Amino acid sequence: MAGRNTGLPMYLLLVEDDLNLGKALHKLLREHFRVDWVRTLAAAQERFAAAGYDVLLLDLGLPDGDGVRWLEALRAAGCQTPVLIVSARDELDDRVKGLDRGADDYLVKPFEPEELLARIRVLLRRKAGSAQPRLEAGPLSYAPDSQQFYLDGAPLGVSPQERALLAVLIQAGGRPVSRERLLQQLYGLGDGVDSNTLEVRIHGLRRRLGRERIETVRGLGYRLVAS
Ligand code: CA
Repeated sequence: MAGRNTGLPMYLLLVEDDLNLGKALHKLLREHFRVDWVRTLAAAQERFAAAGYDVLLLDLGLPDGDGVRWLEALRAAGCQTPVLIVSARDELDDRVKGLDRGADDYLVKPFEPEELLARIRVLLRRKAGSAQPRLEAGPLSYAPDSQQFYLDGAPLGVSPQERALLAVLIQAGGRPVSRERLLQQLYGLGDGVDSNTLEVRIHGLRRRLGRERIETVRGLGYRLVAS
């Protein structure tokens, strides 16, 4: 098959719940790239956080949530991985806002395989040479592309919810982030959010990082302390 090259490092995450379409796309993409295929938002979040993908192919209507909301949360967390929305037209009509929420491109089902491959190549070319710098706050650092945190240089294990909150805090560069803004991040993950959820997550983060690392700023929210 033309273009087949198993040594190629390009690594794609395909999020598509439709079994037949997913199978067909997975087969097509595997001829050109390294690719993982998942069928739920939860699996996508887990895989995405665990591996460094070059491109994310995202269906919008997923059985356990809304792809656009997750995309929004990813962008808010500083992730710049190219995202191609692959969606049915009726999903897309009121979802063209997907582009506003951070998608790089979109493709309407049904489409020609060659068109999908061409769009992916454009995104990969655009991505080349645009690696993002790490952000730092004291002993904590963050690689936005992989969404990985490091504490004193060692990878830090955090839950998806903790990661989403910490990403917004570290990007604020020491400024306070409002409770509303942080709650939005949790909504983006489809997390069941009640009045205590944020406090519980912040408590979990303080346990991992040290109490003094996340300061409560009265009336303003929370801030990450750098020193
Ligand atoms: Ca779908």
